[in-house]
Amino acid sequence: MRVLVIEDEEKMADLLRRGLEEEGMAVELAYDGESGLRAGQTGSHDLVILDLGLPHRDGLDVARALRQSGQKTPILILTAQDSTEMKVRGLDSGADDYLTKPFAFAELLARVRALHRRTQTVATEDQTRLQIGDLVLNLINRRVTRAGIEVQLTGKEFSLLEFFMRHPEEIHTREVLSEQVWNETFDTLTNVIDVYINYLRNKVDRQFEPKLIQTVRGVGYQFKPHAGESRVLTAESKAA
Ligand code: CA
Repeated sequence: MRVLVIEDEEKMADLLRRGLEEEGMAVELAYDGESGLRAGQTGSHDLVILDLGLPHRDGLDVARALRQSGQKTPILILTAQDSTEMKVRGLDSGADDYLTKPFAFAELLARVRALHRRTQTVATEDQTRLQIGDLVLNLINRRVTRAGIEVQLTGKEFSLLEFFMRHPEEIHTREVLSEQVWNETFDTLTNVIDVYINYLRNKVDRQFEPKLIQTVRGVGYQFKPHAGESRVLTAESKAA
């Protein structure tokens, strides 16, 4: 899981970074609103933790700008301003949750996990894109990214992935896949489907965790978003 922390107080930023890293999360820090917004717009994070009082661009403005640019990454506002009015303004700006400083780290973690779970298991869908976890599929320009990294798919691979993302958790037989994705009967396609699943895995799963495309032995395939972590494997962890 990748978290973007936008916080100008270095001590607080450092505390958040260390605490979240201890939980196995990858943390990127931004110390002002402008660079925080730029980082957030890459769409490569699973969650944004956002302070409100920030130099260059305040937190409410950052949240609004992220939403206006189409980013759906969950935003947790973390601030010393505890008035009801500020909470309402924070949530109105497009943030998903609000936590007041000082806070117990355990509570922060619980909220981080809850927000992450919500987006991991529900595909956020609008007219233009599908997103599950760190996998984003743009239906207009047919661009696909995982963890912010562009993945090149052929037309059929794209259709197969789109079908999977529209039916997460469901187990699909090869028969269903051939009808739904290829518009053909099963007989002619048995091996073709396995080959395409293999191509797709190489592109969207091989260098990433968690693996999304699962083989269900004797039945077929399942696209399985996990509630757990989502990260890019480094060369080091691959070798381990
Ligand atoms: Ca601040």
